[in-house]
Amino acid sequence: MSTKKSFPLLANNPDTIYLDSAATSQKPQSVLNAELEHYLNCNAPTGRSLYPMANAATEALNQAREEIARFIGAENTASVVFTSGTTMSTNTVAFAWARKNLKAGDKILTTIMEHHANIVPWQILSEDIGTILDFVHLDNNALLDLTEMENKLSVGDVKLVCVGHVSSVTATLNPVKKIIALAKKYGAKILVDGAQSTGHIPIDVNDLNPDFYACSGHKMLGPMGTGILFVHPDRFNEIGTMFTGGDMISKVTPTEPWFKPLPTKLEAGTQNVSGFIGLAEAARWLNNYPDGLIGVERYIKSLGTYAWQELAQIPNILLLGPGPGDSCSSSLVSFTFNHPACPNRKKIDDMILGEKLGEQNICVRSGIFCTEPLFSHQLNLKGATRASFHIYNTKEDIDQLVQAIQKIIN
Ligand code: PMP
Repeated sequence: MSTKKSFPLLANNPDTIYLDSAATSQKPQSVLNAELEHYLNCNAPTGRSLYPMANAATEALNQAREEIARFIGAENTASVVFTSGTTMSTNTVAFAWARKNLKAGDKILTTIMEHHANIVPWQILSEDIGTILDFVHLDNNALLDLTEMENKLSVGDVKLVCVGHVSSVTATLNPVKKIIALAKKYGAKILVDGAQSTGHIPIDVNDLNPDFYACSGHKMLGPMGTGILFVHPDRFNEIGTMFTGGDMISKVTPTEPWFKPLPTKLEAGTQNVSGFIGLAEAARWLNNYPDGLIGVERYIKSLGTYAWQELAQIPNILLLGPGPGDSCSSSLVSFTFNHPACPNRKKIDDMILGEKLGEQNICVRSGIFCTEPLFSHQLNLKGATRASFHIYNTKEDIDQLVQAIQKIIN
C-alpha cells in the first residue's frame, strides 16, 4: 500500500525518490498538524508556569510521554526520557550512568557494526575514567559472532554491553532478546541502540527487558530533534545527571543542587515540546497503519527484499549484509562497486554514484555512514551506497533506483 500522499514533502515533490530514511524519515501530515496545532493554540513553557495555557502545555507533554511509553512497551512513564536523538540517548547512558557506576578496569563490550554514537562515547569514557572498550565481530554472513560475545562475557569483567538492534549498514537484525539475556547471565548491564529498529518493527521493552534502549524519533516519522531513552526502573537510583540547570532541579542552595526524579532529572532546560507532541502523533500514525507495527514491518520487509533481489542482478555489484531472511530487517540495502573483484571499481566510487543519483532526484547516502570501524576493520571497504526505506516507498522507487544505477555504470 503506497502512503506517499500522506507525506506532504513527497506529495509536493513527486519526482523525488527519497531512499535515505535510515538517516531521517519523512513526516506525515498529521505529525506536522500536531506540531502546528501546538504552536497555534498551546505554546507555553511546561512544568513551570501555572496559567491555564501553560498547564495545558504540560498536560500535552505528559500525554505525549504516555503515548510513547505505550508505543515502546514501557510500564512506567518515568522510564521515558525525551532526548534529541539516539546520539543524545547513548551519550546520556555514558555520562549520566556509566561515568557514575563504572570504574577503571571495568570492561564495556560493544560490536564492530555499531554507529559512532555507540562507540565514541565509550572511547571518551575510557579516557575519562579508565574503562576498557572491547568489540564483538561479525561472521562471514554479517551476523554477530555470539560465541565471541559469550567468551568475552564469561571472563566476568564486562559491566556494560552496548549493541545495535538493527545495523545501519548491513540491516542485520541482531537477536537482542537473546543478547540481553546473555549479558544478564554474566552480570552485565545492557544498552540497545534502536535507531534503525524503532518505528520499523514492533518494540516491547517490557518483553526485551534491557537496562537502556535508545532511539531516534526523527527516524520513526517524528519531528527533527526528537529521540527517546528508555531507562529500566532498576537503574533509576543509579543514574546521575547529564546536563544540569533549570527544571531538573528540586532545590538549589549556593553550594548544592538536589534533583527531581526521572525523567525530569535528565531533561534539563526548556524542552522541544512541539517536537514530542509531533513524535506522539507519529507513534499513533504507525499504530493506526493496517496491522500496526506488524503491518509496517511486513511492508518495509517486502520492499527491502525486492530491492536486494533487483540490485543483485546488476553486474559487479557487492551487496553488504546477510540478505533477506530472519536475520535481516530489510529496511535498507547497502552496496558498492568499489571492491576488489569489480574491474572498473575506481570509475564508480560511492561518492560519485551518490552524487549522480542525486542529480536524478534519487536520494541515497554514500560514504561510511558513521560506522568507520565496520568498514575499516571488518568489511575492508572504503565505503558504500545505501538505499533505505520507510512506509512511503514503493517498488517503483526501487525500479527507478536500479535503472538509474544501470545508466550510471554503463
Ligand atoms: N545509531 C544508529 C544505528 C544510527 O543509524 C544512527 C543514525 N544514523 C544513530 C545511532 C544516530 O542517531 P541520531 O542521528 O538520531 O542521533
